[in-house]
Amino acid sequence: MDLLKKMITEKGIVLKDGVLKVDSFLNHCIDPQLMKSIGKEFYKKFKDEGITKVLTLETSGIAPAVFTALELEVPLIFAKKTQSKNSSDLAYESNVHSFTKGKDYRIRVSKEYLLKGDRVLIIDDFLANGQAAKGLCDLIEKSGASLAGIGIVIEKGFQKGGALLREKGIRVHSLAIIENMSEKMISFRNEEEK
Ligand code: 5GP
Repeated sequence: MDLLKKMITEKGIVLKDGVLKVDSFLNHCIDPQLMKSIGKEFYKKFKDEGITKVLTLETSGIAPAVFTALELEVPLIFAKKTQSKNSSDLAYESNVHSFTKGKDYRIRVSKEYLLKGDRVLIIDDFLANGQAAKGLCDLIEKSGASLAGIGIVIEKGFQKGGALLREKGIRVHSLAIIENMSEKMISFRNEEEK
């Protein structure tokens, strides 16, 4: 997606620890026109999959996911990271190891929103080692719903998440795949889906 790659190149800041900072259009200040285009791109890719729900993880997945859900005309559910007072038999739960924070946390989705028979599209802002996506897949599996695919805004192709998910036969579509990045340069992979 050319507009996205242009914004990553012009506004992305590569931090020393392999983290790309995109606060100016995705993770803090959100560009609604870009989000609208992202929603349309994911719609084009996944419109024939019979999707009934979009699933993401709070907080930064919500913006691209809500625009995708709007195009697909289905509800968006975001998995919560906060501890809930509700007992775990009211929610599906999974563990995720955070790449950016270097620690584990639990994610949860209320059982009333993810139903057996749902066909779910996962949307997230970044794909690095695939731990967030794995946790979301786990919630879907626990609910008895089926996974239609995963839409990622920015995949860091030099980390193992994309390969791990695709090896499992999961359909992963990333709008921009970063092949390499340094403080001076960001390069993209040409093909966006394998
Ligand atoms: P993974 O679970 O695939 O290792 O990492 C994906 C999650 O970590 C995403 O939901 C995203 O919030 C965060 N993340 C991973 N890498 C980056 C990065 O380079 N920049 C930002 N802003 N977030 C990242």
